Amino acid sequence: MNSIEEFEKNIHGELVKMWHELHAHPELSMQEFQTAAYIEDALHRTVKNIDIKRVGKTGIWVQLRGTARDKTEEDVIILRADMDALPINENNDLPYRSQNPGIMHACGHDVHTTILFGTLRVLEHFRDTIPGTIWFFFQPGEEVLEGALSFLSDPAIDFSRPRAVAGIHQGTNLEAGKIRLMKGVSLAGTDSLRISLRGPGGHGSAPQNTRDPVSAAAYLIAQLQTIVSRETSPLDSAVLSFCSIHGGSRDNIIPEEVVIEGTLRTFTQKTRTNIQESICRICRGTAESLGVKIEPEFLKHSPPLNNDPAIVEIAGRAVQKLLGADNLEIGEKPRMGGEDFAFFAEKIPSVFIIAGSRTPGGKQVNNHQAEFYTDEGTLRGGILALSGFALEYFKVDF
Ligand SMILES: [Zn+2]
Ligand SMILES: [Zn+2]
Repeated sequence: MNSIEEFEKNIHGELVKMWHELHAHPELSMQEFQTAAYIEDALHRTVKNIDIKRVGKTGIWVQLRGTARDKTEEDVIILRADMDALPINENNDLPYRSQNPGIMHACGHDVHTTILFGTLRVLEHFRDTIPGTIWFFFQPGEEVLEGALSFLSDPAIDFSRPRAVAGIHQGTNLEAGKIRLMKGVSLAGTDSLRISLRGPGGHGSAPQNTRDPVSAAAYLIAQLQTIVSRETSPLDSAVLSFCSIHGGSRDNIIPEEVVIEGTLRTFTQKTRTNIQESICRICRGTAESLGVKIEPEFLKHSPPLNNDPAIVEIAGRAVQKLLGADNLEIGEKPRMGGEDFAFFAEKIPSVFIIAGSRTPGGKQVNNHQAEFYTDEGTLRGGILALSGFALEYFKVDF
């Protein structure tokens, strides 16, 4: 039998083609119709011995049952990747650049999908050695915090069975071929919020006849920015960013409504509740003092991502075996980013694997940026880490 490394080498060209195809045809969250059909077709053509089921409209659940089950009782583990893209216009001159104007894989979910597919190919090859069952989740809608919940609410999936779950994400601040793992809390809890300010609009020359939501929005944002700096302990961590503000149509019409949207990041429920209460209090106060109606709404939430130390150890051993100790980095500080993988991690002991995606010596880019790119080496690093984790979990000699 081939080693994992050799097997990956043999299918690498095919996987690069898949990645480029996915990158060229990005789809927005919960609308991954072509992506799901493409993956399903590739599964039918190249992988035997699996069960495939749709979850919601665009999610795919694949089951691979190992055939060495006499060794231990049957365990289930989950490997998960996300598939959605972002509303960004790609600014890269690549032969496989996005063909869908205004939509781009700027968070590397095309790479994650390809890594999970490659991992499935590897593990199917090693099926005779695996004493358990592996579920592969091709998940939609991570960016809108809906995809993980669509799996968790599917009655066909028995979530009392899995003993471990591993997710994968590219990391732009790490060189391709390197892997970063972290025990405990590694990413923040996320709340998305929307605040609407309303008042009777009117002519810009007669503000006395209106209640101006534009100037109220300016006051409100300035006051809300004191919550983290003045009301949150300097030893605690939180971010409150307002990233969208819309209102008005012309220079001389005071509009009836301005809408502000933002994101709140916290690590504990206590800090989260305190900040939410402060936001509501400041909205009430500003509404009272300026005479506009202000309605804050907390729309979507994902919890902080907490990695199980024992499961992280298993992943660490696999990475050392396949990629070498030099290519394993242990994260020490959590980041303020959020992930809906945290919904799985709340229920099942987890590891979130960061696969380096920066070309060694290449330019540093950020996620969610029009110049975002991933190095081809991310595929190999991710596949070895994820398939190695599964084999190490099942104590397969590899
Ligand atoms: Zn993202
Ligand atoms: Zn992402």
